[in-house]
Amino acid sequence: MVRVERDIEGLAVERLRARFPGKGNSWIKRALRRFEGGSVRQLGEDAWVVSGDPRLGDRYPSYVVRLRDGRYHCTCFETSWGLRRSAEVCTHIAAVILHREYSKLMQPVYAAVMTMECDGDHHVEVLDREVRVIRQVRVLNNDLLKPRYRVTYVITSEKPKTVMVRYACGDEIGEQEITLGKTMRYIIELIMR
Ligand SMILES: [Zn+2]
Repeated sequence: MVRVERDIEGLAVERLRARFPGKGNSWIKRALRRFEGGSVRQLGEDAWVVSGDPRLGDRYPSYVVRLRDGRYHCTCFETSWGLRRSAEVCTHIAAVILHREYSKLMQPVYAAVMTMECDGDHHVEVLDREVRVIRQVRVLNNDLLKPRYRVTYVITSEKPKTVMVRYACGDEIGEQEITLGKTMRYIIELIMR
């Protein structure tokens, strides 16, 4: 169980890094320390409170982070260090982003995984507009004239659903009904790596 928790946390950290590629390891570590210490609490739809940690240089017992017009603001911007800090993204905000990414990954989703190994051509069509389809193709051999592929489709939906799928795999053409089962979002993320 600890292992899975770590994986989800790892995914959340990856997303934070991707969002702020210019930030170094110490910034990530401080954000992670706040998040792991359980210092983030949601106050409202777009507001969170982050407990202050003197070991991380905080002078106040708590800070409020708000999301306004797609931008995060933290009350630490209003302190004496505010002018210097406002140009940057503080680790209170980073901890909130980790908290949000983690919560998203823990949300349930309905999904089905479809895998085919095909010689040459392959195609999948999901006859439903409300689902999301993630496609991954791997080449299984080194034969340029007769390539063989492993094709993975992950179909996800916010609601329980049965979808119709049309597929072509080499010479085979078919249609199949697939029922999406309940799972967690992070499972999908792990499948698609
Ligand atoms: Zn802050």
